[in-house]
Amino acid sequence: MADQTTLLLLDDSFRFSCSEAVLCFNKCCLDLNQFLTPYDILRLKNRLGIPSDLFLKKYTSAHTGPGSGLPIISLKFDYALQYKCPFVTPSGCCSVYEDRPSSCRTYPLARILTRSRETGNIAEQYMLLKEPRCLGFNYGQTQTVREWIESQGIAVYNEMNGSVKLIV
Ligand code: SF4
Ligand code: SF4
Repeated sequence: MADQTTLLLLDDSFRFSCSEAVLCFNKCCLDLNQFLTPYDILRLKNRLGIPSDLFLKKYTSAHTGPGSGLPIISLKFDYALQYKCPFVTPSGCCSVYEDRPSSCRTYPLARILTRSRETGNIAEQYMLLKEPRCLGFNYGQTQTVREWIESQGIAVYNEMNGSVKLIV
């Protein structure tokens, strides 16, 4: 079992499960810090049946990344509702589950791409993020990163978000 500082490769394993059975169910959806990629936005605006400009205006906020200077688009939360995601239902479920953003799908992993200065080749790794509030690490079976990518429908998001085509 890897700890939170461990970088994982596709065939490394970790134990995790998220469902209504866990005591922390939807805690993460009520404390939002959700960046969106262009493909996330495309999936969500299609899901809602609205044009991109309306989606961006109604559901997102934008700022400039302090380190990169690049534009960052985030899901807009409501301070009065304690950073609640606009897509979590009163029962705690995700109303856009089939089109949820890539970071929602990928958690508790985060995808990391690095490019070699010497060869220009891109390497892909995953970081296991063990947040204290998340009890999912005490549930479920051990699976490999490759199995998690397949079970969560992440491959198409990775292909659209980055330059590595995964064979899973
Ligand atoms: S999009 Fe869905 S899974 Fe992601 S934070 Fe919102 S309610 Fe939770
Ligand atoms: S197990 Fe983790 S990801 Fe799942 S609801 Fe709880 S805090 Fe969120």
